[in-house]
Amino acid sequence: MTPAQTPAHTAAQGPARTPVRPDLADLEPYGAPQLDVPVRLNTNETAERPPEDYLREVGRRIQSLDLNRYPDRPHTRLRELLAARVDLAVGQTWAANGSNEVLAQVLQAYGGPGRMLATVRPGYSMYPVLARVTATGFHEVDLADDFSWSDRVVDDLAATRADVVFVPNPNNPTGMRVPSAVLAALHDAIAPALLVVDEAYVEFGGESVVGHVGEWDRLVVSRTFSKAFRLAGLRLGYMHAPDWVVDDVRRVRLPYHLDAIKQVAAEVALEREGTFLDHRARVASERERVRGALAAIDDVVVWPSDANFVLFRVADAGQVFRALLDRGVLVRDFSTAPRLHDCLRVTIGTAEENDEFVAALADVLGVVPGPPTSTPAPRR
Ligand SMILES: *Cc1c(COP(=O)(O)O)cnc(C)c1O
Repeated sequence: MTPAQTPAHTAAQGPARTPVRPDLADLEPYGAPQLDVPVRLNTNETAERPPEDYLREVGRRIQSLDLNRYPDRPHTRLRELLAARVDLAVGQTWAANGSNEVLAQVLQAYGGPGRMLATVRPGYSMYPVLARVTATGFHEVDLADDFSWSDRVVDDLAATRADVVFVPNPNNPTGMRVPSAVLAALHDAIAPALLVVDEAYVEFGGESVVGHVGEWDRLVVSRTFSKAFRLAGLRLGYMHAPDWVVDDVRRVRLPYHLDAIKQVAAEVALEREGTFLDHRARVASERERVRGALAAIDDVVVWPSDANFVLFRVADAGQVFRALLDRGVLVRDFSTAPRLHDCLRVTIGTAEENDEFVAALADVLGVVPGPPTSTPAPRR
């Protein structure tokens, strides 16, 4: 329309805006702060860059790509490599742009209006967002007071009669594992719902159920390159699932959703997986060193962890969070999240970063750091 035809109200009130979906009107864009501070320990990435020879090889292979052409839509080579690692078929394997996209695709296929997603609380804070944007109902079941699972949790999840159940294992933000026997009972109790076990941190610890894909009828295992694989910048996640789930997800995926550069970069990583994951022992020993240092401070409560982060509780956590930030240390603030009052989560960084975190926390709390930090573990 020409300016002369513009409706009268827009002249008076400025340009008319198309109203967003009413159910999204109060939804804030999700994401942890990305701040430029010296010690960033708030998003559970791995501190080390990928190996130099990996980056060189990716560069070399990108040169020979036909980027004028669309990428391999079913990303077959990548799925072959992923499937072979766990003895499953290509048809039981699927990748997307981060495991968050995998989970979103699962909800596009099995959630939506009139459907429901159930999960545990505390749990991964993206799940309610994914439910929201796909217009899927959402129900949270409380874990026990110490954040462990009990038979009641299984029964309560079954009682929701949800269509899809998401279980983070190890859990984020608690770091705690769920025994496979509990997941087996859950899988049976929620039939015919889909059980999605989110194993974003499984390379660090805990028990994987990937060996049961295909055997447990409705089990999906999602994983990511963002954490132990040191490739958060690549945005790649994947799932192993019954082949009918992969077929259903293909109904909702956008054509060519995985670009050719990403496919190649992931293939090269999988071809040299061993060197990629060799930091895990260091992360585990650093994690226990940080837990020891936290436990040595009076009035700090620290949870066990099978992942590359540690959850702890401290009085006035919101204020402690800001005081740490003033000292250049960024952790994750859960102090106002349901069931996580006064909790902060710290990602395990390099030995130096962990030292800086512990020293900053001791300074904020006005305590002398305990023995575990004054005699640091040997550095590599
Ligand atoms: C970090 C994380 C993911 C990974 O998300 P990506 O989209 O693969 O980066 C998935 N689930 C949980 C529980 C996480 O903490």
